[in-house]
Amino acid sequence: MGEGYHRAKDGAVFTASFFEERETMEDTISAIATPRGMGGIGVVRISGKDALRVADAVFSADSGKRLSDTEGGRFLHGRIVDSSGEEIDEGLALVFRAPRSYTGEDVVELQCHGGQYVLRCALALTYSAGARPAERGEFTKRAFLNGRLDLSQAEGVMEVVGARTRGALTMANGHLTGRFSKEIKGLRDAILAMLAHIEANIDFPEDEVDDVIAYDLEKNIHGVRMKITDMMRTADAGRVLRDGLPTAIIGKPNVGKSSLMNAFLREERAIVTDIPGTTRDAIEEVADVGGVPLCIVDTAGIRAGADTVERLGIERSREYAQKASLVLMLFDGSRPLDAEDEEILTIAKEREESAMILLTKVDLPPQTTAATLSECAGGLPVHSISTETGEGLEDLTIAIRGRVYRDASEGAEGTFVATEREARTLQEADKHLEAALDSLAGAVGLDFVSIDLRSAWEELGKLTGEALGTELLDEIFSKFCIGK
Ligand code: GDP
Repeated sequence: MGEGYHRAKDGAVFTASFFEERETMEDTISAIATPRGMGGIGVVRISGKDALRVADAVFSADSGKRLSDTEGGRFLHGRIVDSSGEEIDEGLALVFRAPRSYTGEDVVELQCHGGQYVLRCALALTYSAGARPAERGEFTKRAFLNGRLDLSQAEGVMEVVGARTRGALTMANGHLTGRFSKEIKGLRDAILAMLAHIEANIDFPEDEVDDVIAYDLEKNIHGVRMKITDMMRTADAGRVLRDGLPTAIIGKPNVGKSSLMNAFLREERAIVTDIPGTTRDAIEEVADVGGVPLCIVDTAGIRAGADTVERLGIERSREYAQKASLVLMLFDGSRPLDAEDEEILTIAKEREESAMILLTKVDLPPQTTAATLSECAGGLPVHSISTETGEGLEDLTIAIRGRVYRDASEGAEGTFVATEREARTLQEADKHLEAALDSLAGAVGLDFVSIDLRSAWEELGKLTGEALGTELLDEIFSKFCIGK
């Protein structure tokens, strides 16, 4: 165990910086926890050892009872008042007592009316009473530092907030509820068992390492590596579920682009296109296609029909195709292919990996068949669809899901690798395991194998937050919003 590490009773490893972090937790923090804008209610959240005292300074209960004298899990009705006793708002104060709160500390949530001005006044009062502004994600960070959540679960909180489809939510909940952490703990336990096994046999001289032990170790290391490989296979799907799949829908005017987009969005035209000069480039909509969030770029460009605003020229199509990871290329089955279609097909050949060729309007008498189109597209598969009858749309959804999930199994989203950090850490751990196998094969002695295994074990601990430094913590929690 390296210097600066500390092993807690339960075997968890903390770096020295962990304890520095804990010192900043002496402060009582507060923030507006609800989104900006107007709403029915807005919440000012206060957390820390002085939370009840701070709240008492700004909240006056109708009953005259002090929050400091109120049990956890209760709420009082009253008024938010400034230091001169003037009323700012009426509202509720919810009391949570340590450790039974989100952060694990004393927490008061002041429910005010949901106006930005009134909320800011209430927040300013908490500062005057001794709280300091919470940093991004600081409530969740405290929950982590107080052992309410492990790191993967803390990241899950953000994923739940950001989830845009059922698949993404299932993945986020898997992290939040600890399903992902459990997988990681399983791997760490397996490594720990190997370390114990080595410890019991470490006295063997180098050249006498028992073959049986070496064989067992090799088998077990392979086992862990295989599990890591399986998890890594879910990383691409996890990233798409979390961030969405940048998608372009291209094809000449009238081919059915906006009809397809509306079918994906299951709504009528939402964007009015008859305002000349409006900026449309940045417009993006997110469609839930079988649980996969498709981020459709240039929706307005698509929606601009043949005789409104600008058409999607071939160069712009190419540009959009380049930005996208999935390019849906549409060809009108009720018309013969023409020169414009041929040009779109050249893009298909350039972007073979991400292209999907769709034959549209197949409810109408065919002028172009799937076979002809496929041949012109250099043998790429063709999906036939009709947004009029719905034919082929389910198959298209399944095909898109299939592309995203690849080897990752559906229904197992809860254990998907969701972030770049997780993917990187798993890769690092795997490198240490590979080194352990090399050490084993090189017969350099069990203590070398032990060092590699220990490194892998510590690396995996970074995922659940059992071993990591301040910098990484800051990096992770800075991605949160204030008040979370
Ligand atoms: P875009 O210019 O590529 O966005 O094409 P639109 O989606 O606006 O469609 C052009 C025309 O084709 C509209 O009149 C649609 O109603 C019609 N259309 C689109 N998809 C289908 C389809 O699957 N079947 C039939 N029969 N008509 C369709």
